[in-house]
Amino acid sequence: MIEWSDEDLMIRDAVRDWIEAEVRPNLDALDAGEMPPYDLIRGLYKTFGMDEMARASFHSRLKKERAAASGTGEDGAAEDGAAEAGGGNASMTMLPVIELCKVAPGLVSAMGVSLGLAAGTIMKRGTAEQKERWGLDLLTMEKVGAWAITEPDSGSDAFGGMQATARKVGDEYVINGSKTFITNGPYADTIVFYCKLDDGRDPRDREILTFVLDRGMPGLDQSRPLRKMGLHSSPTGELFLDDVRAGADRLLAAGAGGGRESAKQNFVTERAGVAAMSLGVIEECLKLSVEYAKSRELWGQRIGDFQLIQLKLAKMEVARLNVQNLVFRHVEMQKAGRTPTLAEASAMKLYSAQAASEVAMEAVQLFGGNGYMSEYRVEQLARDAKSFQIYAGTDEIQVTHIARDLLSR
Ligand SMILES: Cc1cc2nc3c(=O)[nH]c(=O)nc-3n(C[C@H](O)[C@H](O)[C@H](O)COP(=O)(O)OP(=O)(O)OC[C@H]3O[C@@H](n4cnc5c(N)ncnc54)[C@H](O)[C@@H]3O)c2cc1C
Repeated sequence: MIEWSDEDLMIRDAVRDWIEAEVRPNLDALDAGEMPPYDLIRGLYKTFGMDEMARASFHSRLKKERAAASGTGEDGAAEDGAAEAGGGNASMTMLPVIELCKVAPGLVSAMGVSLGLAAGTIMKRGTAEQKERWGLDLLTMEKVGAWAITEPDSGSDAFGGMQATARKVGDEYVINGSKTFITNGPYADTIVFYCKLDDGRDPRDREILTFVLDRGMPGLDQSRPLRKMGLHSSPTGELFLDDVRAGADRLLAAGAGGGRESAKQNFVTERAGVAAMSLGVIEECLKLSVEYAKSRELWGQRIGDFQLIQLKLAKMEVARLNVQNLVFRHVEMQKAGRTPTLAEASAMKLYSAQAASEVAMEAVQLFGGNGYMSEYRVEQLARDAKSFQIYAGTDEIQVTHIARDLLSR
């Protein structure tokens, strides 16, 4: 794949028109954190029929899984894998991400965590009943999901330092602990919550359990949105659990490798997605920078004639080509049914996140004082893009994952 197909471009243009009509007029309210993003995301879903597609695909998947479980039909899981791998939707999922990130990357974070991480985990690890109970409403965006691992004392060392616990009391679990930096935390209806089974073993050796919690459960407190540097269209908050009682019906299956492995599988999806997000930021900053370099005149000439400005534009174009190639490669891999290794996904994320952040900061520089002003939008993209180097594993953690893989061969 060296370029988007005509069909892809039609999708892109339709999404672009919708963003211009629905998102751009609300950008200031979103960036001020005054407007939660969820109604806009639901609007996107309804406009493009994504909610109905999600509903239809959910029911057909569950039907096949039930048939497979009762031995009366074909292997639903295998079929689903093939459908996902078929990549028919790869462009359809990437293009809205890229286009939204040109304007408000936080919308993609909020949507990605709810769908990819919260719903994704339930759909991978849940029983049919759990999928019906929580999965469908998340997949159609009727409800908002959060995915909670990070704690005040365990960020990069997510599992090792995890202190949230679940203690078995009779048929129930009693959960205690707190989480921080949780995307959608303040508004989430459904929370996929990671903690350790308190069974008297050394905390580092304890089993990781994954629960699905509902807003309003006694003992569960969801904070207000935290104030932060950027990504204001994605609310981030804290969760506090004080003796929250959860039945075994809320516990997701550990699956092969347990809760740790389940979370790691999500890292791959999330990291590959950051490349598409980065491409949106880079394309927008480059476009705005070229326009500005042609229109801003100093010393009787446009600033685009200065070689130092040309160097900035040239570096932005190099970044755009590289990140676009990573995204195209990812689409091709999806079509071929291949999942990137953790090292590949980490390399994609490391490079793309740094490129997006550097390009956006250089755009601010190219715009001079105007670049520092909100009206010109590049400062918002620079603040937003910085988050790409931190969440889903910091740059430094991507380095350790890539190196560990290289050294283990
Ligand atoms: C906007 C945003 C949204 C987020 N959303 C979610 C969410 O929805 N759910 C969730 O669970 N979490 C979420 N997070 C948390 C995010 O995953 C963590 O912030 C991230 O993993 C880093 O953890 P930390 O902040 O505790 O930093 P720390 O782990 O304390 O790291 C501090 C510094 O030490 C470096 N460091 C750590 N370990 C090493 C090492 N081995 N070698 C070298 N350097 C190292 C780090 O790279 C960093 O520079 C979000 C964070 C942000 C900013």
